[in-house]
Amino acid sequence: MKLYEFQGKALFRRFGIATPDGVLHRKGDVLTGDRPCVLKAQTLSGGRGKAGAVVLCETEADRGAALEKILSMTLKGEPVNAALEEERVEIEKEFYISIAFDGEAGVPLIIASASGGTDIEEVADKHPEKILKLPFDSLIGPLDYHLSRVVKFLSTKRTKELTGLLKKLYIAYRDLNAALVEINPLAETPNGFVALDAKVELDDDAESLHSELFDALRKERSEITGRTVIAQRDTITYVPLDGDIGLISDGAGTGMLTLDMIRDHGGYAADFCEMGGLTNPEIMYSALERVSASEKPLRSLLVVLIGGFNRMDEMAEGIVKFVSERAFTKIPLVVRLCGTMEEEGKKIMRDAGLSVYDDLDDAVGAAVVGGGL
Ligand code: ADP
Ligand code: MG
Repeated sequence: MKLYEFQGKALFRRFGIATPDGVLHRKGDVLTGDRPCVLKAQTLSGGRGKAGAVVLCETEADRGAALEKILSMTLKGEPVNAALEEERVEIEKEFYISIAFDGEAGVPLIIASASGGTDIEEVADKHPEKILKLPFDSLIGPLDYHLSRVVKFLSTKRTKELTGLLKKLYIAYRDLNAALVEINPLAETPNGFVALDAKVELDDDAESLHSELFDALRKERSEITGRTVIAQRDTITYVPLDGDIGLISDGAGTGMLTLDMIRDHGGYAADFCEMGGLTNPEIMYSALERVSASEKPLRSLLVVLIGGFNRMDEMAEGIVKFVSERAFTKIPLVVRLCGTMEEEGKKIMRDAGLSVYDDLDDAVGAAVVGGGL
């Protein structure tokens, strides 16, 4: 689960990492009082500084106008529904530090650079030598020599303070079972280090260890987006992608094939969502909930089912229940089903006034043009 900056910063503070004081604003909020501040769009994607969604304000008029402007923006397809107002920090130097799990190597890494800030991608691209990637043992954690290497690489006079901060960041990473904790920039200020940005990604597979935290974070996200944010069920694999065609399949192979077919038809999928080998109406319902709650607007929702172990009458039951209970009519729904209990499944769909496709290519074509029901 990816967190907003304000959520990441709240978690950092729990672990003793300093952040600027801040308050969250929503659409319709009126700002009063005259003080220099920074207003920052709250979205799950980065690059806000470069997109003009981080604004330094001097006066009350500035703040009001900046808030209005930020809340009318859409960043990388994501509408901005909240902005964080923060105290303005005097920056002497911007560092980059993060701890992330390297899935390929199977080890966690400390990543650090003395060239932090909004140009970090360019630094990584053009000057990889300016970025240190230090693996450490995931059971033992970083040892003193790891930390001193990072501190030396970043060359600051505040060695003790930076060592302490790295330890806190590691404890946050470990205790939250995070996939990523990133501070970019970590600002060196006349009063020490302050995390000016926070990117935290929690590991969905560790939800059972932090169920209250996940619920609270999800509730906050629902309040901001105005949409229900659904828990990821165990059997459902969900990977968000960049396109606008919601996709649900009942097998990974079918899902991959359909992704390719969507591309062949000139479309882009909004996700890869696979329900696992053995499904039931509840899982079908949850998958529809999950994909239709996409933060980006969908052109269509394509459901591709091949009944082997799965029964098409049960899948149809889940679809019909979802469409009627949720009054799901705004997004065209394109369903293709075949295999076990196919005729029964089709009858349930038709009795409910929903049509089904026989041919996969036809269904994909309909989803790409935003057609369907
Ligand atoms: P993003 O990574 O999405 O571009 P950041 O939160 O990193 O957004 O902000 C971009 C830049 O804005 C930072 O590199 C920093 O220079 C500046 N900035 C952000 N927050 C503050 C703050 N509270 N005080 C002063 N400058 C800030
Ligand atoms: Mg940043």
